[in-house]
Amino acid sequence: MSFGYGLSTINLNNMIKVDEKGFYGKFGGAYIPEMLYPNVEELRENYEAIMATQEFQDEFRGLLKDYVGRPTPLYFASRLSEKYGAKIYLKREDLCHTGAHKVNNTIGQIILAKKLGKKRIIAETGAGQHGVATATVCALMGMECTVYMGEIDIARQHPNVERMKILGAEVVPATSGSKTLKDATNEAMRAWINNPVDTHYIIGSVVGPHPYPEMVARFQSVISEEIKWQLKEKEGRDNPDIVIACVGGGSNAAGAFYHYYNTLEVRLVAAEAGGLGINSGKTAATTAKGSPGILHGSKTILMQTEDGQVVEPHSISAGLDYPGIGPVHAHLFDVGRGEFVAVEDKDAMAAGVELSKLEGIIPAIESAHALYALNMIEYQKDDVIVVNLSGRGDKDLETYIKWGKY
Ligand SMILES: *Cc1c(COP(=O)(O)O)cnc(C)c1O
Repeated sequence: MSFGYGLSTINLNNMIKVDEKGFYGKFGGAYIPEMLYPNVEELRENYEAIMATQEFQDEFRGLLKDYVGRPTPLYFASRLSEKYGAKIYLKREDLCHTGAHKVNNTIGQIILAKKLGKKRIIAETGAGQHGVATATVCALMGMECTVYMGEIDIARQHPNVERMKILGAEVVPATSGSKTLKDATNEAMRAWINNPVDTHYIIGSVVGPHPYPEMVARFQSVISEEIKWQLKEKEGRDNPDIVIACVGGGSNAAGAFYHYYNTLEVRLVAAEAGGLGINSGKTAATTAKGSPGILHGSKTILMQTEDGQVVEPHSISAGLDYPGIGPVHAHLFDVGRGEFVAVEDKDAMAAGVELSKLEGIIPAIESAHALYALNMIEYQKDDVIVVNLSGRGDKDLETYIKWGKY
């Protein structure tokens, strides 16, 4: 076994490995206001050394095992496999505590925050999933937790707001601008600038200024680390032919791809949200519709107007409703290492219902995008395909009911 989760940078292709300044090829870096520089710099200088200590690894691994419930199963989906004519395995991140992969990252970051001597956690959230994962680990560690959320999102995502409150977090409405995620991010940044010494800011995906994208990817890399030995047990080889994951910011995909970046014979398929269609004006298909620019502190690909205004994204799944992708995915796209597909709302819903009926698993609508990609890519009969099932569908019940076609 390797020494620890996400520490195997030595094995990574230089093309994919992040450089000193946080760039994956042309994308990444840290484009931040000067006032934020000391906070980000403190993290950058310390995260690798802290993550490499045995003490950190013991605590991280211990909590992933006993609190999150890892390793999550790699489940051979026989009825789904029969239907598609391939050997399809589902990586069951839906069985993580709190119902999705996001907690892998928040556990890692809160241990790191504690080691850095922080007393207080702030986060921003759109749909509330990252807010809930953050509030959860703050309760676990007895840390003060403030979650910034757009006023409109607070109204739209009522159950998650109440979850955060039950867990002891304070939810602060962002009332400026469009009153959604972007404004919540601005408020959280402002709060961090004002409390640099005692506060850590937990970002929920592989986005934001360096070192966040790489740090979050390493925490999530436990997903592909497990896939490797689980597949070895089941198939006698640790490399599948194809790994498929959905991409909002891209953290579950980065985790599922991480230990395969350098294994060029493993195809990496990223499913973005096509919304109502990539040319409908209501989409979140970033690589199809986007161009290079700066979003949330890093250079990446985002959907923007000609004069650089961020275009409001649309997806039926809250977790994919984001106008950009993390810089590592922009790079995978740029160098042709990843295959990107855009899955429309209606097709994702159909794939979610299909999995429910074939396997008795109601997936998160985000994860259903990855499932539908099976219909959009080419593969050989009996190829081994791993689909990362990033979350469960309990949170999406209302959307399934409104959709109605089941
Ligand atoms: C948040 C979320 C996503 C999207 O986030 P990534 O950072 O792209 O992984 C995907 N699936 C589920 C279930 C989520 O909660």
